[in-house]
Amino acid sequence: MPIDEFQKQINMANQPTILVVEDEEDLRDIVIYNLEREGYQTIGVETGEQGLEQAIAKKPDLIILDLMLPGMNGMDVCRHIRQNGEIQAIPIIMASAKGEEADIVSGLELGADDYVTKPFSPRILLARVSSVLRRSKQVDVVDVSLLKIDGLTIDTKKFQLSIDNEAIDLTKSEFGILHFLASHRGWVFTRYQIVDAIRGDKYVVTERAIDVQIAGLRKKLGSHADLIETVRGVGYRFKE
Ligand code: CA
Repeated sequence: MPIDEFQKQINMANQPTILVVEDEEDLRDIVIYNLEREGYQTIGVETGEQGLEQAIAKKPDLIILDLMLPGMNGMDVCRHIRQNGEIQAIPIIMASAKGEEADIVSGLELGADDYVTKPFSPRILLARVSSVLRRSKQVDVVDVSLLKIDGLTIDTKKFQLSIDNEAIDLTKSEFGILHFLASHRGWVFTRYQIVDAIRGDKYVVTERAIDVQIAGLRKKLGSHADLIETVRGVGYRFKE
């Protein structure tokens, strides 16, 4: 084998493998074409059952999962993956049709990492893919006690926020929400996930109350308010 051909194969072997579960053949081909052009290795399947099978057999680095599939749908596949110890950590990007916000919310709550709404441009998909792959390699930053972002200092030991070195008075739940979102920059969370994440203390927060808390939080963040972004119909995220 010529040396550069050999080198090429070695390089290929180091590229992340992406499993694409999509029943629409044209769309699957487009997605695979774009992923491969970007240097990723791909596996394409058309049913949820095959998706789960390949996830177990090949342990891909990431799964792009269509929600509406004949037979076992994307939601079921996602649930099965998250319950299977061997493959539960594989990141999942869900693909859903526009206007299926409720499904996106359920998918995120089942443990999907991100989503794209159809029709999506290859550019958007590739950006999501590389961002999810990057995050999945990152060490867990949840326990970092001092987060510094854009002039904000979030001190979890003192439960204190300061903006440009000036202390800002936050309620305990406002602080909890801010810290949770800020320690997962770029991730979208549903209201329920936010409630769940900050639960465990004595105070109780409902899903509906999250909007009120976020509004209060933004007010206190002042000119930094846009760091917390609303994702319409889905939830919130801290600006990436
Ligand atoms: Ca479909």
